[in-house]
Amino acid sequence: MITAVEALARLRDGNRRFVTNQTAAPVLSGHARRAALVAGQEPFAIVLGCSDSRVPAELVFDQGFGDLFVIRVAGNIVAPSQVGSVEFAAARFGTRLIVVMGHSQCGAVVATLEELLGHTNNQSRNLRSIVDRVRPSVEALLPGRREEDAEALVSDAIRANVRASVNHLRHGSELLKQLIRNDGLLVVGAEYSLETGIVTFFEGVSDAG
Ligand SMILES: [Zn+2]
Repeated sequence: MITAVEALARLRDGNRRFVTNQTAAPVLSGHARRAALVAGQEPFAIVLGCSDSRVPAELVFDQGFGDLFVIRVAGNIVAPSQVGSVEFAAARFGTRLIVVMGHSQCGAVVATLEELLGHTNNQSRNLRSIVDRVRPSVEALLPGRREEDAEALVSDAIRANVRASVNHLRHGSELLKQLIRNDGLLVVGAEYSLETGIVTFFEGVSDAG
């Protein structure tokens, strides 16, 4: 298995190909590749991303069958089943890089903000379970904000929500803590721009190894 740093470089290269419209995905997703993977997989990165239809991890990183172990849930939140999925992949396949990827204009984050600002309060219990996971990091941003800062507030909230998920994965699992300490597992945050197609990785890439 390649290291976290090598995996990160591979994702950056793939996103560059995606942005410049030079994708290799048709080759990576052909019949031969599928057949070769029947016997087993070795995904080089785990991606926890949002369910938003405009943010498919394999496409924006220009990867094919067998490359990424992807968990998608609205708002890229971390609940126990997401931790379990990440633990499974990290332990079973030896994958050394975990990326939590939020994106601009995330509907789950906007819905949370709307609720916090009192604009809506009629979500179902199930949807509320997502909003409740987003709320703590977003709530902390509200004091002192003015209405005209709405756009900046959404951007800040999206990043704060990614950081909260990263922290949860770094500190909320004994198994992942051990892998971080002893085996070079890295958990990094990232944001995908709907406007440009560019994935920006957050700072702190080196502080988790
Ligand atoms: Zn989203």
